[in-house]
Amino acid sequence: MESKPHFVLVPLLAQGHMIPMLDMAHLLAERGARVSYITTAVNAGRIKTTIDRIKESGLPIHFVEFQLPCAKAGLPEGCENFDLLPSIDFFKSMMLAIGMLREPLELYLRAQHSPPACIITDFCNPPETTDAARELRIPRVIFHTTSCFFPLCAHLIYRHKIFDRIIDEYETFLVPDFPGEAIEVNKVQAPGFFGGLASEDLLESALKAEATAEGLVINSFDELEPSYIQQYEKMLGKKVWTIGPLCLYNKDVDNKVTRGNNSSIDNRKILTWLDSKEEMSVIYISFGSYALVGPSQLIEIGSGLEASNKPFIWVVKGVERSIPEVEKWLCEFEERTSSRGIIIRGWAPQMVILSHPAVGGFLTHCGWNSTLEAVAAAGVPMVTWPRVADQFLNEKLVVQVLRIGVSAGLKVPSSYLAEDSDVVVKRDDIEKAVWNLMDGGEEGEERRKRAKDLGEKARRAMDEGGSSYMNMKHLLQYFS
Ligand code: UDP
Repeated sequence: MESKPHFVLVPLLAQGHMIPMLDMAHLLAERGARVSYITTAVNAGRIKTTIDRIKESGLPIHFVEFQLPCAKAGLPEGCENFDLLPSIDFFKSMMLAIGMLREPLELYLRAQHSPPACIITDFCNPPETTDAARELRIPRVIFHTTSCFFPLCAHLIYRHKIFDRIIDEYETFLVPDFPGEAIEVNKVQAPGFFGGLASEDLLESALKAEATAEGLVINSFDELEPSYIQQYEKMLGKKVWTIGPLCLYNKDVDNKVTRGNNSSIDNRKILTWLDSKEEMSVIYISFGSYALVGPSQLIEIGSGLEASNKPFIWVVKGVERSIPEVEKWLCEFEERTSSRGIIIRGWAPQMVILSHPAVGGFLTHCGWNSTLEAVAAAGVPMVTWPRVADQFLNEKLVVQVLRIGVSAGLKVPSSYLAEDSDVVVKRDDIEKAVWNLMDGGEEGEERRKRAKDLGEKARRAMDEGGSSYMNMKHLLQYFS
């Protein structure tokens, strides 16, 4: 007789979705569940060290590797993660390939001795994963990798059919029926679910999957956005379990270093460097797992950082420095700033960096994970530089509502693969924003204090007896 409830987790194949779901898998397993985590060979390869560690520890997480039918869906072979797409034009093919996982998923679910207690599937997954669970009558929960602030805005805009009457996509409007402070946006900054990339059919089926789910799990915590959580729960008329910040699962350095991918820098090197810096003196710059910065903007960022004279850790991706002139510029820049800066070429151990007391600020693209990690791991304020999708609304939450960020001043989304000519923020403005964040006088101190305070609340939420801890307990009880 099976004693532990069996949870099957189906993440979207993107770093910002797989990483928090793996944190969730750890938490569920530690709190008494048995977990199956659906993945593919390429994605499993990235977290091999984590998988080996889990096997050794005996934690009941089983990694189920499906073969993604890349060629059949029109994807290059091995293109198993959104950050491997040659361009965003392959979005549809990727969704098609993920949808084709329905068959192996259904076979896997059928092969279980007793039906799983619950299947948790990412809101952004195509509907086929939902269909498999529905067919087998397995209780289903939707996971949003965002705050409640974002889907609440997106729903209200959609329900009020705001976009039907908007002709100018830069025309500003207030999000209707929104609780608390008025939120003013335009269409380009609030394109809705899927960053406006989904067809009407995909959007409709995702909303239907949400409406027919048993409930939702959200990577957020009650003390961060109480009125939005309540309103969202009320609007959907179903349980919303806020169980985050999930990143706080990663307490020891070993977990943090290998989280999500193999780090491109030696951990001792980065820690020794950070140890040598004053508390809260370093600014960390990263645009997440897939948004790229074009060559001209890259040089502008470097020049702004150089002029700011602040210690920094800057993450630059492989594709960004693939142009020889860019790499040459970076090498020269690195030499000039070697006494106070580090460039990480590739994948940064973000949780290691953010948890270090020397880090005092984060220039971020406002991906929801990065935003929460800034709050939870570091309690540091942010320079916000949104690019696409939910990121402009995350900026609103951070700058306008929580008042723990300084905007870099972006008004328009920039493409995932920024063109060379795109300089959207000039070096002087970058320098100013960095100064404002790190030495913002009385206002800056207040901002820092608020960020620290939220960081403490985040940790308390995850500690035994805290709000997220209790929500996880209720989630487990509900499906036991
Ligand atoms: N991340 C990391 N190292 C990197 C880039 C990203 O650890 O070099 C992690 C980061 O900590 C976060 C996730 O990848 O957990 C990115 O998710 P987010 O929602 O911030 O942005 P996205 O990549 O989805 O745009």
